[in-house]
Amino acid sequence: MSAWFKIRNYIDGEWIEESGVEHAPLFNPSTGEQIGEVPLSKPETSIAAVESCHNAYEAWKSLPLSKRMGYLYDLRHAMIEKKEELAQAIAVDQGKHISEARGEVQRVVEILETACGIPTLIQGEALDHIAGNINGRVIKSPLGVFCGVAPFNFPALVFGWFIPFAIGVGNTFVFKPSTQSPYFMQKMGAIFTDIKLPKGVINIVHGNRNMVSPWYEDRRVSGICLVGSTPTAKIMAAGCGRGGKRSMLLGGAKNVLVVMEDVHWDVFIENFIHSCYGSAGQRCLAGSIVAAVPEIYDELIDRVLAASKTVRVGGAMDPDVFMGPVVSAAAKQKIAHYIEIGVQEGSRLVLDGRNPKVSKDCKNGYYVGPTIFADVTPCRTIAKEEIFGPVVSLMKISGLEDALQLIRDQAFGNGACIFTQSLYYAERFISEADVGMVGVNVGIPAPHPYLPFGGIKDSHLGTDKVQGKDGIDFFTQNKIATIRFAPPASQDKEGAAPRQDSASVRSCVAS
Ligand code: NAD
Repeated sequence: MSAWFKIRNYIDGEWIEESGVEHAPLFNPSTGEQIGEVPLSKPETSIAAVESCHNAYEAWKSLPLSKRMGYLYDLRHAMIEKKEELAQAIAVDQGKHISEARGEVQRVVEILETACGIPTLIQGEALDHIAGNINGRVIKSPLGVFCGVAPFNFPALVFGWFIPFAIGVGNTFVFKPSTQSPYFMQKMGAIFTDIKLPKGVINIVHGNRNMVSPWYEDRRVSGICLVGSTPTAKIMAAGCGRGGKRSMLLGGAKNVLVVMEDVHWDVFIENFIHSCYGSAGQRCLAGSIVAAVPEIYDELIDRVLAASKTVRVGGAMDPDVFMGPVVSAAAKQKIAHYIEIGVQEGSRLVLDGRNPKVSKDCKNGYYVGPTIFADVTPCRTIAKEEIFGPVVSLMKISGLEDALQLIRDQAFGNGACIFTQSLYYAERFISEADVGMVGVNVGIPAPHPYLPFGGIKDSHLGTDKVQGKDGIDFFTQNKIATIRFAPPASQDKEGAAPRQDSASVRSCVAS
């Protein structure tokens, strides 16, 4: 039997085994084999994690910036050294193909590199001579304890979105991974110990929604963030509203790829494959609808069909495979259910990915192959709801206006991409597509860590986005200082003349 993963909480620098609670089974989606268990910890554990972060906060925020940055450098260095081990941790319980898992770890390294620029990014503003002997200053300071919740599909990236920025500016952090993909953070806990990160700066708790509820009313918690589905984001938005918490809640998505008559086909097909089938379609920026103008619609069907048939499906560690499994038996069932709805509602199923051919050792894994519906209309369920699997809806649109309307009508607003050589189409699309992230001739419009990442509408609730300057803003508060500096008392005695503008000092400060 392969290794058994007994997932534990990491609090105050210690591995804590949770006793007397239920455990959820942990599966390897590539094989369907149970590989371990995850504690569904008690709410008290979540409270203990907040307490530990709270206790660590004052010392952590008071560290010289260079020392805090030193920990981020060490974290980056350790992640580079352990890149393969970390990528395998993602592949084993999330089922992400190893080549993509390596890419995910690399992206976190890049985020850490961006966060190492915090001494520059966190600089506030200063305004001298507001009035006589009065200066003003805006200081970006930390708030205290932040708590974050991750989805199953990006166990590493979401750690990267939240934690380097949050702790880099001086906060401490409680992180709750998904119970479906907790193993990556187990590896990270070991790294925190290796680099001697002060106890309580990052705590990791495992469990379900019971771990989150205590945070809403806890006065020691300054803010809460989530990456997850929209229903979860809405529940958490209500909790954060009740408790008066700062929140950043990234939700679900339904992304449209628009193909114009002047498309560069090779560019499109390559991007289409990565966008729609990468991570088995379980990406918040995955292409889900491909909308093409009439002139090329039939050719589009032929080309995407031919390309999709070449996609090899199989185990996450198989180097000859492009697409790994979906995360769970339940996810596979849900995707199959959407395919059934698509058929029942009259869309034309031109490629059926249910029960794809996989190798013998994968026969119990959770696989769905590339699936394509043609002639889908905007009112169909599969064109409106998030399927979160490798299922593509091809749609005929009359032109750019129609494409923009289709995007506007979506409840979600994460990403949208256009494939065209025309500057006119591209610029109009950039300015008018009703989403948070736009792509031109790219299939996954994920911004680099220097820039913010996040959608609009049902894809994003709360303030600010992750990474970039938004990441800094969310995890800091602007403190504004007004400073009056009097001349030394000795000068007063010697009869130093008052400054001529002292009247304006009274009017703006002392009133
Ligand atoms: P999910 O909403 O089921 O769970 C996300 C996390 O929230 C998990 O850790 C879960 O334990 C926790 N959770 C669930 N219900 C909760 C509740 N009532 N209160 C507090 N916490 C709760 O999502 P998932 O299936 O793990 O992830 C897939 C979803 O995440 C998709 O909808 C996808 O689009 C979205 N996602 C969005 C982005 C983005 O950038 N917008 C990125 C990645 C994933």
